[in-house]
Formats: sequence, C-alpha cells, structure tokens
Amino acid sequence: MANTYDAIIIGGGHNGLTAGAYFARAGARTIVLEARNKTGGAADTSAPFPDHPEINVTTYSYVMSLMPPTIIRELELKRHGYDVTPFGPYFQAYPDGRAITIYADDAQKSFDSIAQFSKKDADTMPKWEEWLKGVADVLGPLLLQAPPKLGSTSLGDLLESAKTAWKMRKLGVRGVGDVTRLFTMSITDLVSDWFESDAVKGMLAVNGIIGTWAGPDEPGTAYVMLHHSIGDVGDGHLGSWGFQQGGMGAVSDSIRRSAESFGAEIRTNARVKKILASGGRFVGVALEGGEELRRPSASPVSTRRSLSSRCSTGTSFPPISCGTSSAGRRARVS
Ligand SMILES: Cc1cc2nc3c(=O)[nH]c(=O)nc-3n(C[C@H](O)[C@H](O)[C@H](O)COP(=O)(O)OP(=O)(O)OC[C@H]3O[C@@H](n4cnc5c(N)ncnc54)[C@H](O)[C@@H]3O)c2cc1C
Repeated sequence: MANTYDAIIIGGGHNGLTAGAYFARAGARTIVLEARNKTGGAADTSAPFPDHPEINVTTYSYVMSLMPPTIIRELELKRHGYDVTPFGPYFQAYPDGRAITIYADDAQKSFDSIAQFSKKDADTMPKWEEWLKGVADVLGPLLLQAPPKLGSTSLGDLLESAKTAWKMRKLGVRGVGDVTRLFTMSITDLVSDWFESDAVKGMLAVNGIIGTWAGPDEPGTAYVMLHHSIGDVGDGHLGSWGFQQGGMGAVSDSIRRSAESFGAEIRTNARVKKILASGGRFVGVALEGGEELRRPSASPVSTRRSLSSRCSTGTSFPPISCGTSSAGRRARVS
C-alpha cells in the first residue's frame, strides 16, 4: 500500500540511515524521512567556498571512531564506499619541547617515547591496554544488545539477565568492580590509579572529555574514555580513529547506499511536522505540506509478530526495543 510502512524513521542522519538499512535488510517496508535537502545530518561533507566548488570539507563531525565492525560488515559498507584511513601515530606535544608519540604497530617506539616521562608508566602502558581490551571485549557487544529487563521476574527476562551476567563473568571480581567504578569515576582518578606522569595522564585523559561538556575531574568521564576505546574504524585496532575518503558525508552516503540496496526508501525535503497517534499508539507521521505516512493497520498483536522477526540494531521512530519476554521474542513499539 502506498504511504504505508512497517518502519518510519524520522531523520536521515547516519543513525537514522543505519536504522533504515537494518529494517530494510530484515525485510521491513522502510522509509527514512529527512528534513534537509540531503541526508547525513552532522556527518556531512560540503563545498563551502563558492569560488572553489571543487573543495569539499567535512562540515561538523570530522573524524571516525567507534564504528562497530559488525555494522560495517552487516551493511556491507565497504562495498558502498566506506573507506577510512586510520590515522596515526598519536602525537601529544608539551610546552617544554618534549612530546609523546604512540605508534599502533611499534610497541618499542611507544615505550621509548613514554619512558622520556616515566619508565614506570612506559612499563604500565601495555598492561593498561590489555585491561582496556578485556573490559571492551565484554562491554562492546552490549552496545548492540537490548538491555536486560532488570526487576522482571518472568522466566524469559530472568534468562536474558542471566545470559548478560554470564557474559560479565569474563571480567572476574576485580573487573566487575572496575567496570562499576568506571561508570561513575572521573578520567583523572582512573588514570591516576595507573600512571604517575602528568604528561601521560594528560594524553590519556583526552579520550575522556572529547564530545562532553566536562573537564577531566568530572564524574563519568572515565566511561567516556572507555566508550571511545570500545570500537575501531574497521582496522582491528581498538580505539583507533580515522579519516573517511571524501569526508564524513561519504560515511553517511555509504550507509544510505546500503539502506537503498536493501530496499529502504529515503526521502529528503521531507520534514515531519507531526507524529500521529491513536489510542495512545503510534500510527504514522504527517509531513509539512500535509502528506501522511502510516503504519499498516494490523492489530497491535500482529504488528508485534511481524516486527518480532525484524529486530535489529539502530535507532528509529517509533522506538523499537527488541528482546525476549515471557511471551517470547519481543518487539515493543511505543
Ligand atoms: C560540531 C560537531 C562535531 C562532531 N564531531 C564528531 C566526530 O569527529 N566524530 C564523531 O564520531 N562524532 C562527532 N560528532 C557527533 C556526531 O556528529 C553525532 O553524534 C551524529 O552525527 C549524530 O547522528 P544522528 O544521525 O543521530 O543525528 P544527526 O546527525 O543530528 O541527524 C539528525 C537528522 O534528522 C533530521 N531531522 C531533524 N528533525 C527532523 C524532522 N522533524 N523531520 C525530518 N528530519 C528531521 C536533521 O535534519 C538531521 O539530518 C560531532 C558533532 C558535532 C555537532
């Protein structure tokens, strides 16, 4: 039916496009609605110099990090133009003329560089990286998983919680303590537990404050650091960052192409003006200009069933959470 979609996603930023790609890949009739004349949101490339239209620059977001390899693989992004060059070595200069340089592939050179400031810290660095990897190995997959329904006593929910707890066992007693503290402590406190040199601590603290309105002493910044260390850009080096060929807009373009290859419809100049609800349930959206797009008029139960086989990662509107409940696989549309 025209104008009827299983999944209506508002916003064609890279997250909306990713959600659209996953829904379409799972067989849902999907549409992504973008208000602007192009998709990408803040992951965008533009040509801001009228005299030099050949000069393209990344508009807002400028560097790739934390692109889960699962998404690169499942959405076949490389086939659609995802082409990131990891940058490195990491370089941090200090006012006294010294600098720390960290090489992804040369442990000895990194050691020598850190040892200028502290031999002890140079010795500690591989242990820190190993610890980070251990925590990331357990927490990373959680990013792509529906959270367990804590507090529920239904068998399915208890099983799901037990599965999550079982995965956590890899952390060990010390690790569980570390992770719990990580969510609340500051990056200053965390790196001070491990290192002695202010130069080394300062270098490591950067990842704890990027993208936050917080200083390094702020509670929670330790997790920000971990979050930035969980993924890679597809090169297998944990916490690596990189530049996309063609700027950040090309990342969004690759996701858009992937979504379209799975059958998603992407519409630009399509600003959603109103979310339509009936009886407290989402039924569709109205665009500026009056056009309405709706969900199929199936009963909530059959909609649940039809969506339950289509659970996927990503964000969408309506928000769809996938998991297992006592009634079986759950896809909740609110
Ligand atoms: C200055 C800046 C620098 C950044 N640097 C980095 C970086 O280097 N690396 C990094 O990983 N992240 C960076 N980020 C963060 C990253 O860009 C965002 O987290 C990411 O782009 C969010 O993507 P999104 O798809 O969720 O939302 P957005 O990119 O915000 O996309 C939302 C889209 O929804 C559309 N929309 C809004 N309302 C409607 C409506 N009513 N109807 C239809 N469409 C609508 C908007 O036009 C937009 O295209 C940066 C962000 C900023 C602002």
